[in-house]
Amino acid sequence: MEDCIFCKIIKGDIPSKTVFEDDVVKVFLDVNPNTEGHMLVVPKKHITDFTEMDDETLTHIHHVIKDMKELIYDKLGAIGLKIVNNYGCEQLVKHYHVHLIPVYKEGTFEYPYVSSDNLDEILDKLTK
Ligand SMILES: [Zn+2]
Repeated sequence: MEDCIFCKIIKGDIPSKTVFEDDVVKVFLDVNPNTEGHMLVVPKKHITDFTEMDDETLTHIHHVIKDMKELIYDKLGAIGLKIVNNYGCEQLVKHYHVHLIPVYKEGTFEYPYVSSDNLDEILDKLTK
């Protein structure tokens, strides 16, 4: 879709900190992270929400989420993960996406925001 920011990121018209990519999905760091390593899992095809998605894509996205969970635990030392999809309201970009928000300490998560100054450092940890 022409004016969709995620479609532009997927096409490479807008740069992103890509953690993982295959034919179906792209995973990149959120530029306004709630915690370090906050990433978005986005299908490459423009789909507004999960109710429009075929079963194969839905399944694939969840396999990628499992892999990213392993990566987040292994490389960043998270102890939990918020897996968030805004449906129906508060979906700012109308292209389906899942937020993976690492949690580092139990009982401390209140959707804080952290600095985005170290995205390159986080990307290095995740991809090297
Ligand atoms: Zn799109």
